[in-house]
Amino acid sequence: MILYNDILGSIGNTPIVKINKISKNIFAKLEFFNPGRSIKDRIALNILEQADKNGEIDENSVIIESSSGNTGIGLTLVCRVKGYRNIIVIDQNCPSEKVKLLKALGATILMLTTRNSGCEDLTEKRIEFVNKAKEMIKSLYIPNQYENSNAPLAHYYYTSQEIIDFMEDTNIRFKAIFISVGTGGTISGISKRIKEYDPSINIIGVEPLGSTLFGGEKGGYLQQGPGNYFKPKNLIYDNIDLGVKVSDQDAFNMCRKLALKEGILAGGSSGGVMHMAAEMSNKFEGKVLCVLPDGGEKYLDSVYSDQWLADKGIELKKQNKIDVKKIN
Ligand code: PMP
Repeated sequence: MILYNDILGSIGNTPIVKINKISKNIFAKLEFFNPGRSIKDRIALNILEQADKNGEIDENSVIIESSSGNTGIGLTLVCRVKGYRNIIVIDQNCPSEKVKLLKALGATILMLTTRNSGCEDLTEKRIEFVNKAKEMIKSLYIPNQYENSNAPLAHYYYTSQEIIDFMEDTNIRFKAIFISVGTGGTISGISKRIKEYDPSINIIGVEPLGSTLFGGEKGGYLQQGPGNYFKPKNLIYDNIDLGVKVSDQDAFNMCRKLALKEGILAGGSSGGVMHMAAEMSNKFEGKVLCVLPDGGEKYLDSVYSDQWLADKGIELKKQNKIDVKKIN
């Protein structure tokens, strides 16, 4: 056993598990084993540690960041341990569970009340607000997960190395890695390092249908975390072999299936990557890896609520539904 000096020591080194019933050739890297229950803990730690090293922040700094929730939770964890105050700017699309987690961890939460259709991505509005705040209060520090190179570098140095170590230790060779894309930090960091290691491994980016990172028509989507209507600086296409789109319906049905068949409770973007991997794994004639960004506890009132799905017009396949049986 290892002694961690604080909770931040437990970030990373997430398990890779075999998927058994949904498909024979898929493996999943479970990022909800991070203490903030998402892959974003990795970039939060790396960005703030580097900012501290470079003298950009000290114990009097106030960290402010736009987030769909997970980066906010990761940053808040790091801020509590390191003693910085922090503000997280979210919007009304942020699932209530993430808001509660941010509150529980002591973030100051600013929620944009911009009206929208309920599934329009509001990332650009949040960034605009953060930049305006910085103009007014110079002492604020913006980690800027969309542009800060220490976000992809967290995945270049650490997440990728874990995948490489797994392949070396087990002799399992992945033909492809499926990665959810939002800011691009995860895919840019992993794809660069993995292509240096073995250029024959395919890197597949997955975004929600309606997001425009890989082109296509702009539209609404309900998957929270992945996707954007603008190209963040941290999204580097050079080492990405293919970008694909997944509908909310397919992503959310796969979330239910993952829970019911494999006992893996994962978030909407995880359902998205797993759906695409299951659809495409035959094409690669070998084993593929899915990086699952976060856990399902943050979506119990949305992805895992039959009522919420029905209200949003998402059809849940009968086999993916479990009814509560009422007894007297
Ligand atoms: N899925 C979830 C649940 C996320 O929170 C994020 C990050 N916002 C992503 C996918 C996309 O990851 P990245 O920003 O590294 O592209």
